[in-house]
Amino acid sequence: MEVSRVRSDFPILSRGDGRPLIYLDSAATSQKPNPVIEAMDRFYREYNANVHRGIYSISVEATEAYEAARRKVASFINASPREIVFVRGTTEALNLLAYSWGLRRVGRDGLVLLTEMEHHSNIVPWQIVSRIAGFKVSYLPFTADGYLEHSQLESYRNAGLKVFSFAYASNVLGTINDVRKLSRFAHEEGAIAVVDAAQAAPHMRIDVKELDCDFLAFSGHKMLGPTGIGVLYGRRELLEEMEPFMGGGEMIKEVRLTGATWNDVPWKFEAGTPNIAGAIGLGAAVDYLNGLGMDNIRSHEMHLTRHALELLSEIPHLRIYGPADYRDRCGLISFNLADIHPHDLATFLDREGICVRAGHHCAMPIHMKLGLSATTRASFHVYNSLDEVEALAEALRKALRYFRVPG
Ligand code: PMP
Repeated sequence: MEVSRVRSDFPILSRGDGRPLIYLDSAATSQKPNPVIEAMDRFYREYNANVHRGIYSISVEATEAYEAARRKVASFINASPREIVFVRGTTEALNLLAYSWGLRRVGRDGLVLLTEMEHHSNIVPWQIVSRIAGFKVSYLPFTADGYLEHSQLESYRNAGLKVFSFAYASNVLGTINDVRKLSRFAHEEGAIAVVDAAQAAPHMRIDVKELDCDFLAFSGHKMLGPTGIGVLYGRRELLEEMEPFMGGGEMIKEVRLTGATWNDVPWKFEAGTPNIAGAIGLGAAVDYLNGLGMDNIRSHEMHLTRHALELLSEIPHLRIYGPADYRDRCGLISFNLADIHPHDLATFLDREGICVRAGHHCAMPIHMKLGLSATTRASFHVYNSLDEVEALAEALRKALRYFRVPG
């Protein structure tokens, strides 16, 4: 992958404030390439209209573009278009499942199993619904080196498991989990396997058939697409039997004062006017990612991660969290430098022109388990270069001097 060519597609990277922008926060949200910006611009300038309703030509054009985006997303993860529900993002997808599946299918004696390395969006919705439905929520622990404790899975045999929902890749530890193995366990116990792919879909090839999961959620804005659009993949037969999450226009076949019948899937789950421009932008992002090749993207990010792990581990007083082996990680590294507070460190790095994230990254339980209140996180995407990784390492050494950390 030719990084300099890729970079020229991202206008924000040459903002023109005297120095290049070193953006190392793609795990929070990625930057957008010209084709994505242009696709959305074209929609608003040339054929903005509501979808699935109008008879006139620009409305038909808008509907076709919206549904074409669904087809692109479907083939991106080897699903069928009828299995792709457009939502606002991973958070909404997981809430949809917690309410539509959790509330109705788990029951008082049921168990929802999560892991200790989940983002809040794969914890809190289940906790909220468990308070209504009365089911139990348990957490599969992770080890000190950042791997899930697979051996502990056995303790959840014959435990009334109904849902096993877990991250494909952790947004703090970087760990890539063995989705096939975890899904198999869920199925052996008669449960559904739900995958939070927010940190995986933007960076590696995903095939839902190979993974053998039942549901998979991800966000457009982390994969070079716009904010406010995301995806819930669901196996068609499960979507068919699942009740809708939100009611309103679009999601019905017929409404009487005494009740209503539902539209076909996936529209049954898309109440109200959807984020049409967002879906079109996401479709363009998928085209862009496919143009680079997901396997090339994964190799590029592994290369950056390997180099970053090497450089960072040579810095005194720097502690990295998560697996030591770069092959088990997605392209992000959380760390602490001496006892410098991550907010202070991120502010210092910002003055060096480097954007990183500092805080608990919406994963407080991970930090609590590690005995930390916060970490600093650098994360990569297609536009990042080895030079930027080196600039980060250099700036961290400078921080040691600036904050007067003794030898
Ligand atoms: N899960 C993981 C692993 C994430 O990293 C994130 C975003 N940080 C989310 C879920 C939530 O995604 P969104 O905010 O786009 O809904």
